[in-house]
Amino acid sequence: MSFTDKSLQCADCGVTFTFTAEEQEFHQSKGFTNEPRRCQSCRQARKTQRNSFGSGGSRYDRQMFPAVCAECGIDTQVPFEPREDRPVYCSSCYNKTKGNSRW
Ligand SMILES: [Zn+2]
Ligand SMILES: [Zn+2]
Repeated sequence: MSFTDKSLQCADCGVTFTFTAEEQEFHQSKGFTNEPRRCQSCRQARKTQRNSFGSGGSRYDRQMFPAVCAECGIDTQVPFEPREDRPVYCSSCYNKTKGNSRW
């Protein structure tokens, strides 16, 4: 059984990458029948992403909640769930409060 390098297109970024004979052989030895759908860097990116999600959440894609600023009344978004008993500030008011209180 011999393999030849193959050109595949990445399902994520659309770049053409080479599925080398070596990789094909490795794939087959592992019993995989599907060709890889993503290029090296996208696979790497997904792996990293999954790892950071698994271990305590990432800082990048956190959920934002709609809120109304208690100071100036504009609609804003906060990275935590707003509670009735706690005032929520937009980023500029938050920075103002931060400036002249305990922080
Ligand atoms: Zn890609
Ligand atoms: Zn405000």
